[in-house]
Amino acid sequence: MRAIISAAALGVCICLGAGCENPLELDRGTEIEIGREGAAKLEAEYGVVDDPAMQQRLDAAGKRVAAASQEPDLPWTFKILKSDEINAVCLPGGFIYATEGMMRFAKNDDQLAGVMAHEVVHADHHHAKSAIEKAMTQSLLVELITRKSSKSLKQAAAIALDLDMRQGYREKEYEADHYGTLYAFRAGYRADGLRQLLALMHQDKGDPARITWLLQSHPPLSKRTQRLDEYIPTLTGRPVSPP
Ligand SMILES: [Zn+2]
Repeated sequence: MRAIISAAALGVCICLGAGCENPLELDRGTEIEIGREGAAKLEAEYGVVDDPAMQQRLDAAGKRVAAASQEPDLPWTFKILKSDEINAVCLPGGFIYATEGMMRFAKNDDQLAGVMAHEVVHADHHHAKSAIEKAMTQSLLVELITRKSSKSLKQAAAIALDLDMRQGYREKEYEADHYGTLYAFRAGYRADGLRQLLALMHQDKGDPARITWLLQSHPPLSKRTQRLDEYIPTLTGRPVSPP
């Protein structure tokens, strides 16, 4: 026996009792709202770089790979965070950020498109959504039923930020590498752009502190490039060669 309560104001459907595979399910609009809320928080924390040329470079790569994704109609936005760390962040709904450090580190547009495409996959494969749903089920169920408040949205945004900034998507990283490589290739970039960037990060001995976060939260870079070495030839028909 199961009961379904619809908390329409918040755009979630709550299923109670046994037999509920996914007790709390976010609809598309709410997923986007959560991303927007998290994006505002992130921008307030880091600040956004105001550099038209750098922004144009990011937009060109980001929008092109997003158009080649399975959800070209998401409200895709690409912005640059004021941080020297070499990183990129994705929030639900298509709010994607590259750090200033990443913009400088990506040596060519194939590499930049590759890393943007990786982030695009986190959004269009809804990687944060199920984790948010799981976390919210426990902490917010009572509140959702009794009081449909915007506090719930804020809490969900905090979960989404924590997932991406601190934990990473862990087991979803290989999937993001795989489809990201496909999207970049479909968009007309070299298939090995992301692979090039990961290899450069692996070699980077300049300032390891700048990529500590990524190394902690993502699978080892060598494993990721190894998997791409197997996948890329299936797209291009030839083995991966040095850039
Ligand atoms: Zn990732």
